Amino acid sequence: MKLLRDWSVRRARMLWQLYRRVCAWAPRLQPVVRGLGEERAQGLLAPLERQLKGAFFDCRMCGDCRLSSTGMACPMNCGKQMRNGPCGGVRADGGCEVHPGMRCVWLDATEGDLRIAPGHTPTWTQRVPALDWRLQGRSTWLQAITVSRRAAPEPAPAAPAAPAPAAQEAVSALERACRAWHAQRRFIVTVEIAPPDSPDPRPLIERARRFHGLVDAINITDGAGANCHMSSVAAASVLTAAGIEPVCQVGCRDRNRIAVQGDVLGAAALGVRNVLCLTGDDVSQGDHPQAKPVFDLDAVNLLHILRGMRDEARYASGRPLEQAPRLFLGATANPFVAPFAERVANLERKIDAGARFIQTQFCFDLGLLEDFMRAVRARGLHERAAVIVGVGTLPSAKALRWMADHVPGVRVPEAVTDRIAAAADPRAEGVRVAVETIHALRRIEGVAGVHLMGHRNESTLARIIVDAGLRTPSVETEIA
Ligand code: SF4
Repeated sequence: MKLLRDWSVRRARMLWQLYRRVCAWAPRLQPVVRGLGEERAQGLLAPLERQLKGAFFDCRMCGDCRLSSTGMACPMNCGKQMRNGPCGGVRADGGCEVHPGMRCVWLDATEGDLRIAPGHTPTWTQRVPALDWRLQGRSTWLQAITVSRRAAPEPAPAAPAAPAPAAQEAVSALERACRAWHAQRRFIVTVEIAPPDSPDPRPLIERARRFHGLVDAINITDGAGANCHMSSVAAASVLTAAGIEPVCQVGCRDRNRIAVQGDVLGAAALGVRNVLCLTGDDVSQGDHPQAKPVFDLDAVNLLHILRGMRDEARYASGRPLEQAPRLFLGATANPFVAPFAERVANLERKIDAGARFIQTQFCFDLGLLEDFMRAVRARGLHERAAVIVGVGTLPSAKALRWMADHVPGVRVPEAVTDRIAAAADPRAEGVRVAVETIHALRRIEGVAGVHLMGHRNESTLARIIVDAGLRTPSVETEIA
């Protein structure tokens, strides 16, 4: 099966040309389908399609075939069924985050797409709508014959999200900070903290208060690493009630489109404005590896749905909301793992879908970030969304190596690990590396800010912000 799948990607151009010819010719079979009746035709074609496309493409019969726009690599083989580009968890060797022995489907898709049209912009820069699961198992050949709808019924797409940030009143302090970057290049600082394993909100508030005056917003992770904690919606609401600006992270791993819309509406009712949309880590990495991953949506479609709720006051179903939630939407990017060209296309899809701030994975490799930003600037994406680069520190070379080996999507060059290992005080050296990284990032055109990350390491992160000269601590701020 794998061999044939590889063969199909290698022969992507030939198969793509064949596909186009067959699609053009297929409607001639309409009288036959009418004679048989659509359901009988379905009964005949679906098993045939399953056999043939199963053999050549490992087809999963999703009912909304995208092979011709994904280099003849079926995106439904992706461990998270990503249909709008790769997740951020692709391993250094190109292995899938979910199935390490399998090559990331999107690496195949990128190669196949380049074979179809060398050097062209991928046809899949357009957003692929969320899958209509009722179509699963249905024949797409029959759709080609009857020229019927190929995708899930979606309300008519809204006009592309307007980049003009000053057109309306900002809904949050983070949105104001992003506008200040666009207008005056004021550098943004955000930080990430994990919600507690307790119903007591006080320790969370205390940890967040350590960043008083130092950051523009505090991200609350949503089951990061697939480990269970207090819900991000609840923790973000706790911070809002305490007068602290949160970014509520919302992942697609644990909720379907019904649950996620209800959660975001609830968060908005509790005063949460900033929502970071992400796909989510695979469950195998966390403390509940036996859990069932959902992945009904990907981050691009989650953004699209939330933008529809905000701008058009409607659910994904098209049903109107009584009142639109006030939201400032963001997304993630990982410039540090392949496929690199697709990373920028994926970012553009997220910005088209409504993301106005972007937070990246840990940056330990400035060269890769510079390459990414060059491509971002070439597409003008830095003027449509604030790109906030992830920076962190770890206490030892051992911890860095562990992260590089065990956290998919994190790339740590050997030179960085060696420098920390050779230091007399590895923790202090880690802080120096982070500060130097921030200074270097400030010189890269288009970088709007930094996003500090470090598990339960608030005092060190506050120290980095101050040492890098980003903000001055107030008297009550506790610095390590
Ligand atoms: S690495 Fe991510 S995008 Fe690639 S196949 Fe695996 S889950 Fe899908």
